[in-house]
Amino acid sequence: MAELGRRYGFFRCTGCNGQWESSHVYVNNMTGQVAYKQKCKKCNIECDPYHVEELKCSICGMQGKLCKCTKEEKMSRHVNEKRPHRSDLCMKCRAGIRCTSPNLML
Ligand SMILES: [Zn+2]
Ligand SMILES: [Zn+2]
Ligand SMILES: [Zn+2]
Repeated sequence: MAELGRRYGFFRCTGCNGQWESSHVYVNNMTGQVAYKQKCKKCNIECDPYHVEELKCSICGMQGKLCKCTKEEKMSRHVNEKRPHRSDLCMKCRAGIRCTSPNLML
């Protein structure tokens, strides 16, 4: 099975032109292709992100490897994440591979 890397994605619905962002976008590390789409909450259409970028640390704002924050710092920060992940719209979660668990928000 291909290894997936987590990214930050920007979505735009082709049906209603609605836009959203998600920190739970997963790409195939080999091909760079987006592995799971997300659904527009209005139209129920599965959409690919039109733009994908490296995750930025919510504490220091640095991307991926550049972040020096400890795991503990990130964990405490993530508990306060303002926008919960919409697993009902996420095709990865719907496939049974949950992005988040109640105890650990990765
Ligand atoms: Zn839509
Ligand atoms: Zn950081
Ligand atoms: Zn998900």
